[in-house]
Amino acid sequence: MKGFCEGAMPGEDYTEVGRNMEESEKAAKYLQDMGYDMLNADNGTYDSWYWAHPPMYMPENCNLEDVSHIKKFVDIPVVCAGRMDAEVGAKAVSEGKIDAVGVARQSLVDPEWITKLIEERLEDIKPCICCHAGCFNFSSSKGHANTQDLTDTMGLSRCALNPETMQSKKYHLERAKKIKNVAVVGGGIGGMEAAIVCAKRGHKVTLYEKSDKLGGVFIAAAAPSFKEKDRALIAWYIREIKKYPIEIKMNTEIKDINTLEADEVIVATGAKAKKLPIKGAEKAIEAIDFLLDNSLAKENVTVIGGGLTGCEIAYELYLQGKKPTIVEMQDDLVTTPGICLANTSYLRDFFKTNKVPVYLETSVKEIKDGAVTVADKDGKTFDIKADSVILSVGYNPAPIAKKSKKVHIIGDADKVGNLRTVIWGAWDIAMKI
Ligand SMILES: Cc1cc2nc3c(=O)[nH]c(=O)nc-3n(C[C@H](O)[C@H](O)[C@H](O)COP(=O)(O)OP(=O)(O)OC[C@H]3O[C@@H](n4cnc5c(N)ncnc54)[C@H](O)[C@@H]3O)c2cc1C
Repeated sequence: MKGFCEGAMPGEDYTEVGRNMEESEKAAKYLQDMGYDMLNADNGTYDSWYWAHPPMYMPENCNLEDVSHIKKFVDIPVVCAGRMDAEVGAKAVSEGKIDAVGVARQSLVDPEWITKLIEERLEDIKPCICCHAGCFNFSSSKGHANTQDLTDTMGLSRCALNPETMQSKKYHLERAKKIKNVAVVGGGIGGMEAAIVCAKRGHKVTLYEKSDKLGGVFIAAAAPSFKEKDRALIAWYIREIKKYPIEIKMNTEIKDINTLEADEVIVATGAKAKKLPIKGAEKAIEAIDFLLDNSLAKENVTVIGGGLTGCEIAYELYLQGKKPTIVEMQDDLVTTPGICLANTSYLRDFFKTNKVPVYLETSVKEIKDGAVTVADKDGKTFDIKADSVILSVGYNPAPIAKKSKKVHIIGDADKVGNLRTVIWGAWDIAMKI
């Protein structure tokens, strides 16, 4: 840590104000002398939580070098944790750098991952995307210790991608008493999850997707360079869904659900981007359009909206060597409850360390050619230089039908959320049909 509530970035040259390596070498030895059998080691404190609980922005195996160093000071086994890649971990163990690898989150997503590794069925492993949305969703923003509902925060070790984990009383599959024809409209993550659960329960499922790709908006979400696990998750779904007798009709837009011959219809048609009612709004690039085609953004880019998507876009722009600026109306970045502090504090620290301009409590008044006019909380207006402007101000549900006894609306089409709400919500419906 560089200071209270301020962590050090990977590779950064900084002065450690917490426990430094010299002290850790001694601490490890003291613990051994006191009779400890084994050390499970990583970096980080709550001030630099992203080292102990690495989000997707942190490099894989981020603690390996330091943990290998600590091993030199003790004779008891030393385990390394933190986004460990199985192959890198196995190599480090075989070379005697560490004695074992600690992996928690991947086991929550896919309890069979060890078996699949042993059987070399790597593509069958449902990958952990390091979101922390189910397993450790303690979220925090300026002035608030925990912005997440306490009853939810207390439910640790669940998984956004696998509702059965630690919730098997609520989420478990039973064969359907009456086999039905189920139509699923929309082939995003929500539609695919609902289709798989319905098929596992024995229903006859047809999935309709208007585009030529499965994955929905998560294709754009998974596009940034640091989201390789998200891309692996889409690939997993596309592979997984084909294992079941689900009829998939691509390039098929459903205009009227009454044309479907189905006993039950699941609408998973996602959401539409919100528009900004300001002058020049048409000059802005919508977040999803940028994510699918990075070439749309020039050098100086103002990102309007400092939620998770806006921050990830600014982060990606910086990694691409561009000059992002974030403009956010709230008093902090990523104020949405449920997004883990380990993830959001990395982004806040990254922008601070790399001097990415962040204007909080600032609203956009106009988008002009080459600049954005904004107003701060006192109403003072000024211009920010911008060759490109990216709009990331949220989404509105876009269901193609109304809820009824046989029509169920899930995912972003019901309430805009994240994979946790989308996947758990798909189960809530698919378990009852
Ligand atoms: C930029 C961005 C980044 C994000 N990052 C994350 C993240 O890191 N982690 C996370 O958990 N969540 C993230 N989210 C949220 C997450 O991606 C969504 O909550 C989730 O993907 C929504 O899934 P869905 O199936 O409900 O809808 P969608 O993915 O929108 O799928 C809807 C599908 O329905 C199809 N469709 C629409 N109308 C019709 C029709 N009439 N007939 C047939 N098909 C139709 C569409 O083509 C689409 O494929 C992000 C969202 C965005 C926008």
